[in-house]
Formats: sequence, structure tokens, C-alpha cells
Amino acid sequence: MKNAGEVSFWWRDDDIRAQKDTFKWKYIKYKFKTLYMMRLLAKYKISAIWAIVPKNYKDYGKIFTKNIFKYNHYAVVHGILHQNNATPPACSEFPETCDIEKSFEMIMQHYNYFKTIFKNRLLPVFVPPYNNMCQALKDKLINENIIISESNFYKEEHSPYNIDYDFVNWQVFKLKKENVILDELIQLLNSETKLIGLNAHHTIMKYKNFRFYDKLFKTISKCKNANWIIPFDTI
Ligand SMILES: [Zn+2]
Repeated sequence: MKNAGEVSFWWRDDDIRAQKDTFKWKYIKYKFKTLYMMRLLAKYKISAIWAIVPKNYKDYGKIFTKNIFKYNHYAVVHGILHQNNATPPACSEFPETCDIEKSFEMIMQHYNYFKTIFKNRLLPVFVPPYNNMCQALKDKLINENIIISESNFYKEEHSPYNIDYDFVNWQVFKLKKENVILDELIQLLNSETKLIGLNAHHTIMKYKNFRFYDKLFKTISKCKNANWIIPFDTI
């Protein structure tokens, strides 16, 4: 039985994008960041959920698939192309105006393909880009026993499948300042929530950010009342 003061964290890292292997510095850096983050999480025995964009994955995703298994992580489907189809300032790949049937079919196609390569390392979860999608498409996926993972921001009810914290300052596309992160995490720890979903985007990280995450994981690992879990009871 859990102690009253116990807290569970889980980690969702978004936006793995497979691209044609090139020696372009930008791509080498991107691939390195993803692998480094996977290794860093594994160092603290954290199994994370990696939200993978299906576009190009069949052709160029081999290295990421290998490392999901190697470092004991889980994969989930993240959008189709990961593009904004809503009218700005709204952001959604699947707004009310999207073709529900076609989107549903394509998501299921990618999900079934991922199932063949990730096997039990694929969770029956769909993460919509920008953490939102139209209700009709959501209902169709739920009907197929797919869990939707979005964010708990601005929602009245806390869902264990949604993330509670985002490390990124999206105004400047950078990691928030370390003291801001720590203050906000303490606020969350002081709240009623005892299950906290943390959302990272390894793609926009700088190398110094890895050191911050290393310190954060080390601190959490020393806390007897904190543990890391996968919030989907399907595993
Ligand atoms: Zn995304």
C-alpha cells in the first residue's frame, strides 16, 4: 500500500522524428541528443514513454527502435505528420475540420505497423501533437481501446494519462530556467496530485540541459517516497 506522502512520476518525451541518415551536423546532433536522453533515463532505471512521429519512420527509424529495446523504454504513436492543420493561433493536427475517417484509418495503420516492430514495447496510446484533437476522432480511437494522452493543463479533472508538467518555455523554444522548473515542480508536489506526468522535448535541448536532468534524476532517486512508473495499466 502506498504511503500517504508517496509520489509517482512518469516521463513522456515527445517528437522522435526519423530522417534520412546524413552526415549533416544538425542531424548528427539530433540523433545524439535522443540517444543521450534515452541513456540518461536508463542510468536512473527510468522507463520512459517516447512519442514517435510516424512520418519516415519505416525508412529511417531503425536506430531508435533498437534503442527503445536496449534502454528499456516504451513507444507510442504521436500524430501522423505532426503538422498544424488548424487556423492560427489554434494548433492541432486534428481540428474539428479534419477528415475523421481518413485520419482514423491512418493512425490505426501506423499503430499496427508500430506494433509489428515494437511488440510489447508499444503502448496502446495515442499522443496528439499540441496535446489536443477533435472529440469525434478521440472517441473512435477510444473505441479501439487506444488511450489518449494529452495534458492536464486547464482541465478540471486530473487524468493519470495526461502530462502535468512541461519543461519547455514555448515562447523562446528553450528549456525553462532551472530555478523556474524547481519552483514549479515544488508547487506540483505541494498540490493534491500524487501522480505527476513530466513532459520533455529532447529535440530542443542544449547540452547543458542534460546536466540539469541528471541532477534532477539523482535528487529524485535519493527520495524514498518517490518512484517512477508507467501510468497505463495495460502493462
Ligand atoms: Zn509533438
